[in-house]
Amino acid sequence: MDHVVNEINSSLVGPLFAKRSGSGISVLWITNTRPTSVIGEIFVLSSGEIEVYIKGYQLDANHNLWTKMPAPVPLESGSLQSFVKHVNHAVMVTRGFTICAAVTEQKHLWNNLTEVVLERNQFREPDVCRAETCDLLVNPQRIRCGDCRNLNQKIRGRKKKKTCKEEKE
Ligand SMILES: [Zn+2]
Repeated sequence: MDHVVNEINSSLVGPLFAKRSGSGISVLWITNTRPTSVIGEIFVLSSGEIEVYIKGYQLDANHNLWTKMPAPVPLESGSLQSFVKHVNHAVMVTRGFTICAAVTEQKHLWNNLTEVVLERNQFREPDVCRAETCDLLVNPQRIRCGDCRNLNQKIRGRKKKKTCKEEKE
């Protein structure tokens, strides 16, 4: 398996790093900053099946990314080069998406929100308030997914309400 990892590492373009991981290969999508942190993980099993994780959350089976993913290429049956190509294809599809920005502003209005996940003090990244059902990856022309867009509007609504109240007082 180590030669597979070496082969993949020499073929990857961008802030990516492949490592052996149980029964497959994990390609870590990492930051360009120091200290380095992991943004996402593209896990390719030796069967060629693919799993994608963003910030530690697994992308669900209904995500539109899967319609763009290549069909599994098992390591055993094909040549090493076809498996390496398969891994690169999976990485390319994943990196064709942008990570949902969720909500990073109006932190004082994040309290008592339901169905959200708060990501605080994650390395040097800003705190994030994300919908529990966040798509994690969105088409690059969009900033956030539908549920995080709704969440953002909800938080902005809270801001307005608060301002009105303050004006009355
Ligand atoms: Zn989202």
